[in-house]
Amino acid sequence: MTELLVHGGTVHTLDDDRTTVEAVLFRDGRVAAVGDTADVEAAATHPETVDLDGRTVLPGFNDAHTHVFSVGIGLLETDLSAADNREEALELLAENAESTPEGAWVLGFQYDESTWPPGGRDYLTKAELDSVSEEHPIVAVRVDGHSATLNSRAIEKVDFAGVEHDVRTENGEPTGRVVEDATGRVRAASYPDVPKAREALDAAIDHYHELGVTSIQTVAGLTRVRDHGYVQQEALFAHWRDDNLNLRTTFYVPQWQAESLSDLEIASGFGDDWLRLGGLKTFSDGSIGSETAKTHREFAGGGFGEMVNDREQLREWFAHAARTNQQIATHAIGGEAIDVVIDEYERALEKYDDGFDPRLRIEHVELATDEAIERMAEAGIVASMQPNFLQWNGEDGLYENRLGADVRPENNRYRDVLDAGITLAFGSDKMPPGPLYGMGFAVESPHESQRLSVDEALTAYTRDAAYAEFQGDEKGTLEPGRLADAVVLDADPYEQPEPFDDIGVDLTIVDGEIVFDGR
Ligand SMILES: [Zn+2]
Repeated sequence: MTELLVHGGTVHTLDDDRTTVEAVLFRDGRVAAVGDTADVEAAATHPETVDLDGRTVLPGFNDAHTHVFSVGIGLLETDLSAADNREEALELLAENAESTPEGAWVLGFQYDESTWPPGGRDYLTKAELDSVSEEHPIVAVRVDGHSATLNSRAIEKVDFAGVEHDVRTENGEPTGRVVEDATGRVRAASYPDVPKAREALDAAIDHYHELGVTSIQTVAGLTRVRDHGYVQQEALFAHWRDDNLNLRTTFYVPQWQAESLSDLEIASGFGDDWLRLGGLKTFSDGSIGSETAKTHREFAGGGFGEMVNDREQLREWFAHAARTNQQIATHAIGGEAIDVVIDEYERALEKYDDGFDPRLRIEHVELATDEAIERMAEAGIVASMQPNFLQWNGEDGLYENRLGADVRPENNRYRDVLDAGITLAFGSDKMPPGPLYGMGFAVESPHESQRLSVDEALTAYTRDAAYAEFQGDEKGTLEPGRLADAVVLDADPYEQPEPFDDIGVDLTIVDGEIVFDGR
């Protein structure tokens, strides 16, 4: 029997009554007791003890939408989100190149030109990457993962035959920039194999623990495309088999495996407390940053974006999922894409078993109309949203620059979503993956009309994130019987003593064990 007694602070259980207590006892991976220190002590036998010294305990955070391998690879390779301007981005890539053997790939992720100083906000170019190195193939992937820039050596190494979106040109010269399906080819050529993916997974798990995250829901992401199977799944299962996956992981299967998933007759939720199958992940449109989200509004660069998969294709995938009662999580950012996905979800809902609620999810929901929000509520669709996306909603920020100033109060409508009665699950989309950082935006949003209370934000990152993955009875609260996953913070967010993301994570507890100690 293993016991961990945590006492002497404020424990927010996040149960229905939002009960707060002084102490919590974890036993054999579950919450055994909560209450006054004396009562909880009396329930324990030989516990390891943590004196909170007034600190705050919450259920562990659950990142409802992430790409765990991207998080890890960003840590192993070059994380370009750290660059404040294009010169810095190029310097970071040059550092990576210096320690990489000639001919081997130099990978940069998460570059976000929209945050750089005015005058330097063009996409990275082939010429710039050539100036970093001509001996290495180099690829810099944009923060949204929908586009990338390659140097000359990299363009030679990727097979672009037959892609819809060839390397973009300007005055007949390749700019080195690729979007959508061509970005997929770059992944296939350059991204990590299984051993590297496992290294990345380890790095990501450690990082998540530092951030107080105990559960993740990871969707198809940035790993090598193969003819058969998927590096991401192979690495996850290898970690699971070796008992190395001490971050609870629900994975969503990418759209190109829709038929395989349905053939297996494995329903959503198959797995154990560590690794579970969430269901199917599909894409409807692109992104705002790359001007490929399918919008009702015109982009600054012209056009209304695009469906990366059309209605008929989505319908076919959704039918596969519905046949075997799979949950579906569909990426939809632009208003028009959201409308199409709701249409097709309504149609698919008829095909699930009677009485089964598949909790269909829309991922991002950035530009939902009033009508879309009403329809989502009506159909019981979960809104899986990312509060950190408000980092681009400032004056002269990405939303404004791509879609006009009047889009600023009309994106990421968390308040309207909740008021409509939709379940709101928060995640990070790894941009970057910190729950406290993200929640700060929802609580302190510049648009007061869309602000959430601290409790609403925390609920979306714990209880309702768990609901979104059918785990509401297992996690998301600190009630007896729930999984022993918790985070200890150095300040109480409910007291709002300081800006939200200045709150620090002191301890992270997974399965009743301390996996991160930042005290
Ligand atoms: Zn994503």
